[in-house]
Amino acid sequence: MDRIRMTTPLVEMDGDEMTRIIWQLVKDKLIEPHVDLKSDYYDLGLRHRDETDDQVTVDAAEATKRYGVAVKCATITPNATRVEEYGLKQMWKSPNGTIRALLDGTVFRTPIVVDGIQPVVRCWKRPITIARHAYGDVYKNAELRVPGPGTAELVFHGDDGQELRAQIQRFEGPGVVQGMHNLDASIESFARSCFEYALSRREDLWFATKDTISKTYDHRFKDIFAELFEADYRERFEEAGIEYFYTLIDDAVARVMRSEGGFIWACKNYDGDVMSDMLSSAFGSLAMMTSVLVSPHGYYEYEAAHGTVQRHYYKYLKGEPTSTNSVATVFAWSGALRKRGELDGNEGLVRFSDALEKATLGTVASGEMTGDLARITTLPNPKTLTTEGFIDAIATRLDADLA
Ligand code: NAP
Ligand code: MG
Repeated sequence: MDRIRMTTPLVEMDGDEMTRIIWQLVKDKLIEPHVDLKSDYYDLGLRHRDETDDQVTVDAAEATKRYGVAVKCATITPNATRVEEYGLKQMWKSPNGTIRALLDGTVFRTPIVVDGIQPVVRCWKRPITIARHAYGDVYKNAELRVPGPGTAELVFHGDDGQELRAQIQRFEGPGVVQGMHNLDASIESFARSCFEYALSRREDLWFATKDTISKTYDHRFKDIFAELFEADYRERFEEAGIEYFYTLIDDAVARVMRSEGGFIWACKNYDGDVMSDMLSSAFGSLAMMTSVLVSPHGYYEYEAAHGTVQRHYYKYLKGEPTSTNSVATVFAWSGALRKRGELDGNEGLVRFSDALEKATLGTVASGEMTGDLARITTLPNPKTLTTEGFIDAIATRLDADLA
């Protein structure tokens, strides 16, 4: 059988530990038998990042700007223990942070829904995607413990000599005080990424803040979204048959719980942090969550939402059997290949990506799965497979579907 040809390379970022093992298996057994894979390969494994003084991470991000689509394996973000374990020259920064800073993106996380793994919320029929703004607010704040009576003020000194002031509180006793900020430019690129992603998924976009209470700060978010929507997106949304919907954050939370799913939920930084953990656990498992970084310039970087699964890797190194879930890694590949196919008008590649996802979900739905899913499935008598056994089962099904 002829393998599917690619016209443009995919930027491939290899990673660490158990996910690096899975990465190779997915390529060897699921992709390369069917696709003549063209990839621009970067080894982001910790050893190679250290050897290149982390230049390889920057190079991979720059390549993503050239080609537009990347797929990334989970990577170790070093801490003091890792510096010792790998004998690192220094405690390199999180590759995801470096890449995000260079591509200026928003991260979209979507649960992978499959028969046999039921969401805790019974009315959820389709996935809900969280888009989290990853800049500013409480994550980049300044805060003080107020020792006793006094006055706390916000003061802004403009470079042009202008001064703005607002009283926060007249304290009659001890307390706490906090200052935080955001930037119009960051909010705009967040909004643009959300509108673009909603169009590419053909799903409604919801956004919510607390603008009734925060009449300047949160209101600025609401206004930027509204202005950008009117200027650049209203017509395109109408053509695509999708909606932009703004509401208060508490109303949004209530509506999410009553919804059938199938939309994108844009969240301010803190809301996104909290709500994405709620959604991923309510939908089943972190290993059943896709993650894609979308830049406002239209670059896409696909990955799994989980880490390198270190505990399983140490078992693997000892020669013990493992049962690590590769679904999110497979979906990182299928997401990237599909996007590459769409951009290049390569229908064969798009169809292959669909087939790969279908075979993966079909394997789980037929009762063959890894241990993490076997523990929570509603299917009777699930069969628990090893890391490799599960990928083999997908391969068998995929080969049959494509034959
Ligand atoms: P983790 O790799 O997400 O794993 C935490 C635990 O979750 C595992 O021990 C396992 O539970 C379960 N789990 C996660 N993914 C699984 C999968 N695919 N299949 C089955 N079970 C899975 O987080 P971590 O162990 O805290 O972090 C390990 C390394 O990953 C760290 O060095 C961190 O820096 C890095 N990390 C990278 C990324 C990224 O690149 N995007 C994200 C997060 C963390 P059991 O042990 O109970 O089976
Ligand atoms: Mg969190």
